[in-house]
Amino acid sequence: MELKVIGTGSKGNCYILENNEEALIIECGVNVQAIKQAINFNSSKVAGCIVSHEHMDHAKSINELTKLGINVYSSNGTFKALQINNHRAIPMQNKIALAIGNFKVMPFDVQHDAAEPFGFIIKHKECGNLLFLTDTFYCAYTFNNINNILIEANYSKKIIDAKMNAGASPEFLRNRILKSHMSLENCLTTLSANDLSKVNNIVLIHLSDSNSDEIAFKAAVENTTGKTVTVASNGTSINFNKTPF
Ligand SMILES: [Zn+2]
Ligand SMILES: [Zn+2]
Repeated sequence: MELKVIGTGSKGNCYILENNEEALIIECGVNVQAIKQAINFNSSKVAGCIVSHEHMDHAKSINELTKLGINVYSSNGTFKALQINNHRAIPMQNKIALAIGNFKVMPFDVQHDAAEPFGFIIKHKECGNLLFLTDTFYCAYTFNNINNILIEANYSKKIIDAKMNAGASPEFLRNRILKSHMSLENCLTTLSANDLSKVNNIVLIHLSDSNSDEIAFKAAVENTTGKTVTVASNGTSINFNKTPF
């Protein structure tokens, strides 16, 4: 299995899990043209697209994907917020696993300023159990037998506080970010709360343009977890298997 990063961060998120036979799109917050190119204009290969919540950096191309004949899965709250009502927009229930092609996806509730945002556990025989966690300021759950992780590391509390104290960032913005996105500090706490013994890859996603530090974040997560850490950027492609080889 291969993980492709089409977009990450507040300008647009889209990740694709793909092998020779099928693909699962995770988030479609980028231009549909970029998604079409990434799947080689072969929409029949796509088992479906899962969307965490209604913000445009995650949900922008839902309508376009359904027009291509791709089923899009998200919460009822997300579809309602976007006023999307068509037969290819398929609601998922919190904590009820759903088969999408050979992927099994279990959504769970996260903490974000959106109607009904989800994180996902995605299971496939090639990549094992993948934890996808973004746009949440903390995670209420721990998970067993995780093999790969995509997790938000949006900002560092140190950077954001220094900026606010210097007058470079208004306090309301700081407070909004603190209650909706995952800091590096919370990302480290979340990772440490889980059994990482079977984890192959940790991919850091949705880094803020102005309140993050790619090199320092990677080093901090490596030091805390001892795992292979990649900071996602547009165009990143990683082998995403259950075992390292
Ligand atoms: Zn976002
Ligand atoms: Zn959001």
